[in-house]
Amino acid sequence: MILAFIGLANDEPGMLSLVGGIAALLALVAIPLATGLLVNALLGDQKRHADALPGLRWPAANEICPRCGEVNFMPLFCCRHCGRLSWVWLAEVCAFAITAAAVVAISVPDYNAPAWWKDVGMLLHLLGALLAATAAFAVFIGTAQVWQLQPRLPKEGRVFRSKVDQMALVGATLVPVLCTALLVLSLF
Ligand SMILES: [Zn+2]
Repeated sequence: MILAFIGLANDEPGMLSLVGGIAALLALVAIPLATGLLVNALLGDQKRHADALPGLRWPAANEICPRCGEVNFMPLFCCRHCGRLSWVWLAEVCAFAITAAAVVAISVPDYNAPAWWKDVGMLLHLLGALLAATAAFAVFIGTAQVWQLQPRLPKEGRVFRSKVDQMALVGATLVPVLCTALLVLSLF
């Protein structure tokens, strides 16, 4: 990430920006993965429902909830039946959105660079912005669904039972706002 910062801030063609670009790509993979592992470790061992298949299959059209065993159609981050939240997925998508938006925000095109370099930079810039926007949108829809589901869930499945869960969900809800701010900033 630090390499990405140094490399992308220097937007002339050359080794340094190349290293920066590669570092940015690595950060896009490594930061969400590390976040996912961290959240997984924080959650500890979770009991899985006997019907649930091992491993993560999101985005799957039909997914069996690991807690209640009910089938969810196109779940984002939350089981519609018992309210189980896929914290790991939520954290990974959030981390990806923030990383992509941050990379886009710090890679400012250099107007003195040769035309071909500006074109390549512009293309990568747009691609990064698109990825960040897509991930942020998924988080937005996902968290909105979680909030909207709360009153309909059984009492023991609601997120309001735990202060930590509540804080985490509020944090995730703010991620799209942060990403939008970063992307808007990158326009100037
Ligand atoms: Zn469930």
